[in-house]
Amino acid sequence: MNTQQQWIDLQQTMKIESRAFINGQYQDALDKTTFSTINPATDQHLANIARCKSEDADLAVSHAQRAFEQGVWQDQSPAQRKKVLMAFADLIDQHVEPLALLETLDTGKPISHSVSTDIPGAASAIRWYAEAIDKVYGEVATTEKDVHAFVSQQAIGVVVAIVPWNFPLSLACWKLGPALATGNSVILKPSEKSPLTAIYLGNLANEAGIPAGVFQVTPGFGQECGESLARHNQVDCITFTGSTNVARSLMICSGESNLKSVWAEAGGKNANIVFADYPDLDKAAQETAAGCFYNQGEVCVAATRLLVHESIKDMFIDKVIAAAKNFSPKDPLCPDSSMGALIDQGHKAKVLEYVQLGIDAGAILRCGGDVEGKGAFVSPVILDNVSNEMRVAREEIFGPVLCVIPFKTEEEAIAITNDSSYGLGAALWSSDINQVHRVARQLRAGSIWVNNYNEGDMTVPFGGFKMSGNGRDKSLHALDKFTETKTTWIRLQSI
Ligand code: NAD
Repeated sequence: MNTQQQWIDLQQTMKIESRAFINGQYQDALDKTTFSTINPATDQHLANIARCKSEDADLAVSHAQRAFEQGVWQDQSPAQRKKVLMAFADLIDQHVEPLALLETLDTGKPISHSVSTDIPGAASAIRWYAEAIDKVYGEVATTEKDVHAFVSQQAIGVVVAIVPWNFPLSLACWKLGPALATGNSVILKPSEKSPLTAIYLGNLANEAGIPAGVFQVTPGFGQECGESLARHNQVDCITFTGSTNVARSLMICSGESNLKSVWAEAGGKNANIVFADYPDLDKAAQETAAGCFYNQGEVCVAATRLLVHESIKDMFIDKVIAAAKNFSPKDPLCPDSSMGALIDQGHKAKVLEYVQLGIDAGAILRCGGDVEGKGAFVSPVILDNVSNEMRVAREEIFGPVLCVIPFKTEEEAIAITNDSSYGLGAALWSSDINQVHRVARQLRAGSIWVNNYNEGDMTVPFGGFKMSGNGRDKSLHALDKFTETKTTWIRLQSI
């Protein structure tokens, strides 16, 4: 791992690519406008990024559609597409240093996380779906003997991936992997707050041999570039990760245009239930803190509602406060930084407003808050005495804020967990196997963690119930989003 100084040196010598990647080439936005992306750890300007708008979206879609119709990608043999995507994944791995540095500069996340998790995770997502290309078969239906009906999956066409800023490259690759593996043309619209790694991918895609128009990147703002793509009649599918409000607006865009499919991984307000009999409360406290404060709390499945049995509440909070000290904010370019800056000053102000809102409603601030000086730093906040009716318990804060809600009975813990418009993740800590099954079955969330928080793997689907979204990223289930199911009937003639 590089030292802090080596990362700074690398930043000074690195040329940041800031243009859109369209039809295999980097180019400015058609109207030549740009927007600034900043380093939230220093508040300093990093680069002027091409500000794509509707005309750039139109251009990218026309190239994507042409590439799809000409079959330059979908008609390549599965073995060939696999080879190209494996090369793409290898190139991401080989470029881990510049990609990790760009991710950390753009988002404020610790460099050690970018190096060890975000960038390798992105490569492994691409690789996992590349490996799957020739292992997923069609079906033959059980029809009567004189007809033969087979069911095949075909690429859907032009896919637009709209992604947020908290895990820019890895979340993009959760979508690029299955969408490219199934033969689609993909346009990636990164968040205006973190476009750098997405743009960097363009060169790697060319080097790997992904044909022009099959993978494109159009940086820009949501309401300009994102909405133009979402309303486009030649876009067949939107795969989105971001807030529930934007998910809703994308569904409206689809309804008002061509009924393109819209897959949304949206927000969460996830409960983490600690029962009194769990024998290793130190471990539970460590994972509670990591579950809430990892990535500055800017995680859709962050464990933001701690439901703890009233008999152990005070003792358990003390343990979590101690564990939260492992997440003291520090320059994200320091190799031992475990908590960096929030995405920008505007978001920091929003997070601190929520903390005040909680205090005004009767919550007790046990630790954390504003870190003065340059950069959007907030230290881990623990709010005690929260009730599930308070806004801090109902709305997604998307920062390092843990709300502690005591409960008396198992039924009450289940009811509080499910009393949320979200349903992304939930966890429980219990050594009673009957209780584990009973509770896990009743929790309304896409991922349930028992005696751990936030295990994850490409083999396992990820997504939410209720307003946390629809469809699933990761695993073979994700392939369904990017294909149409076709049945072909053949009437056989008897001799
Ligand atoms: P956001 O919804 O504001 O933006 C996400 C993306 O949508 C960005 O690229 C943005 O430019 C684009 N966008 C915004 N308005 C748009 C519009 N009108 N039309 C088209 N595109 C538009 O979210 P964010 O602030 O970038 O990220 C934080 C949110 O993401 C949180 O709510 C978090 O829970 C969610 N998230 C969910 C998951 C998950 O897997 N469920 C994972 C990570 C983040």
